[in-house]
Amino acid sequence: SAARLDAINAVKSFVPPAPSFAPSEAPGEIFGQNVFSRDVMQARLPKAVFRSVMATIEGGAPLDPSVADAVASAMKDWAMDKGATHYAHVFYPLTNRSAEKHDSFLEPDGEGSSIAEFAGKTLVQGEPDASSFPNGGLRSTYQARGYTAWDVTSPAYILENANGNTLCIPTVFVSFTGEALDLKAPLLRSQRAMADQAKRVLALFGHIEPGNIVSFAGPEQEYFLVDRSFSLSRPDLLNCGRTLFGAKPPKGQEFDDHYFGAIPDRVLAFMLDAERELFKLGIPAKTRHNEVAPNQFEIAPMFEQANLAADHQQLLMVTMRKVAQRHGMEVLFHEKPFAGVNGSGKHVNFSYGGGNVGNLLLPGDTPHENAQFLVFCAAIIRAVHLHGGLLRASVASSTNDHRLGANEAPPAIISIFLGDQLADVFDQVAKGGATSSKEKGTLTIGVDTLPVLPTDPGDRNRTSPFAFTGNRFEFRAPGSLQSIAPPMITINTIVAESLDYVANELEAKLAAGDEFNHAVQKLLEQIVTDHGAVIFNGDGYSDEWQVEAAARGLKNLKTTLDALPELITPESLALFSKYGVLSEQESHSRFEVALEQYALSVGVEAKLALEIGGTIILPAAVRYQTELAQNVAALKAAGVEADTSLLEAVSTPLAALRTSVAALRSAVAAHPDGGSAGHALYARDTLLPAMAAVRAAADELETVVADDLWPLPTYQEMLFIL
Ligand code: ADP
Ligand code: MG
Repeated sequence: SAARLDAINAVKSFVPPAPSFAPSEAPGEIFGQNVFSRDVMQARLPKAVFRSVMATIEGGAPLDPSVADAVASAMKDWAMDKGATHYAHVFYPLTNRSAEKHDSFLEPDGEGSSIAEFAGKTLVQGEPDASSFPNGGLRSTYQARGYTAWDVTSPAYILENANGNTLCIPTVFVSFTGEALDLKAPLLRSQRAMADQAKRVLALFGHIEPGNIVSFAGPEQEYFLVDRSFSLSRPDLLNCGRTLFGAKPPKGQEFDDHYFGAIPDRVLAFMLDAERELFKLGIPAKTRHNEVAPNQFEIAPMFEQANLAADHQQLLMVTMRKVAQRHGMEVLFHEKPFAGVNGSGKHVNFSYGGGNVGNLLLPGDTPHENAQFLVFCAAIIRAVHLHGGLLRASVASSTNDHRLGANEAPPAIISIFLGDQLADVFDQVAKGGATSSKEKGTLTIGVDTLPVLPTDPGDRNRTSPFAFTGNRFEFRAPGSLQSIAPPMITINTIVAESLDYVANELEAKLAAGDEFNHAVQKLLEQIVTDHGAVIFNGDGYSDEWQVEAAARGLKNLKTTLDALPELITPESLALFSKYGVLSEQESHSRFEVALEQYALSVGVEAKLALEIGGTIILPAAVRYQTELAQNVAALKAAGVEADTSLLEAVSTPLAALRTSVAALRSAVAAHPDGGSAGHALYARDTLLPAMAAVRAAADELETVVADDLWPLPTYQEMLFIL
């Protein structure tokens, strides 16, 4: 079609932007240049104020109001020096996106001019009109107030814009009555819960002053790039980030990359530009090409404190979208933009440590350090076994449903991969350190050191959702589109509970007169015996695993709607409230919002599928059918025998398209009852199958309709042209 050819021509004539960096510019010079960092604060704040802010950051307490004015004033001066005209409280509502409320620094002085104002109270607390953010019933509309408050542990930064820069302040977002309406507040609470329990365990290992214990996270982000001309002519990509239609490109076809020219340089230019923008924001990005699917790539920033990593991850997505558009491309963060092609995930690597104790998931060199490492590892194993359902729920979304359990992403069953060596160690522990397994000898806590564990084992099991990778765990189920906050909140909380258990057990054993190493050995033995079922080193993609996992009693929560109820089981409600992470009411509200989000996003897709199927694809197919029918009629009139097979090949799927579009139309028009749960179930069980039927007919038509009439950019074009 004309539109499609226009799109292809636009790609061919695209002029890349001029490089935005000077070759002489060293990464070190721009790194953090737009961040109100420790160094900036040290240079710009009075000594006493600086010390107070640092204490706040390290202790995680709220900012002392008496220093807020001084900090605000220094921050404003710095921001205005950097060309900022506005400031914004940035927050992280339950939609998994980030939101901003912008205000001008300039306030009218009542006499016809204006003065630059930014008081301490404006820095510390904002009041966005937040009634349009989902709250799951926590806020009634007549008091639709939410407050934002600066999270001092996440530094303010400048967002550049040609029309004026903005000072951005990362904040928590809470209701009038103090309930969390966002992802940051519970993340901060969960880190505190984990740290409190970790310190109890560390004390037993002799760390009386372990310092500030935190969780670290390093998210690996997968994404696709498509040329913007294509995405602009695909309403589905534009509005829901994935293709709702598209026949698979022919298998084994050699794609002629001379036709449009293979342009890896273009991708590289984008990556370097994006990296540079991220550096300025203090985000330690490291890009690289990923070869799994055509036009699919990965960016992995260096790990940081989980709370900062979560903010940075959100900012990274925003920044990459912006930079890609500058380069005439669209970044697709959706988990499954193209059916039948590899999807995208966001592997969350995490570890615990900091303070004076280093990385708690690093095996260490001495038997004592080894024992401590094994205890923390065992606590995680126990947590994952007891709360696999919650982990599954933390990555549940309508979009991730297309990826999890497909043959390219971890299954919906949550198990742990330890690697042969560590699995063997736990095996030996389970046998009381007395007998050897796999003829590798015995392991006695407090006496033996661990075998050297490979940090980056080549035979890494990529089919496992939760893997130990030498000095950290990697949770591979999170979706590429989601915030890393929900999985980190969950991990921190379930690990806090497990460390609490560990500390209680050890304390009780010691109080009963048990010797320390013996107590540890017995505890580890107990945990491996009770929770070893979650350890699985085999092929997570195999059908046998589905059967075996069921026999082991592991949950297999296939869709979002199977997983979400995990959030509100009596055990989960008690768990999150016991550790002060989410009150029961907050948990319920999150469950509600997740259901709403699910129903909403499937609902939007259904409407789009109807629109595209009915008003773009159907007319194109009808045109072709008419052309063929006229051809047959003309041949008959001329007394030539007419071959009608092509006409039939179009007419059959076309009839199916008409029927399925009509069915989808009535499905979309219906009003299911049963509240948000009813809407969500309706979306899954009625809308999704109705959309699939429309797609099946449309995709078949794509393979028979004349190419010059086909209205949408094809998979082949979107995946192989850049
Ligand atoms: P992979 O081989 O798994 O693709 P990458 O190097 O791409 O690994 O990404 C690994 C991620 O794990 C990076 O973000 C890295 O900073 C992070 N990481 C490394 N060590 C730790 C750690 N101790 N704790 C948390 N994250 C870590
Ligand atoms: Mg990885």
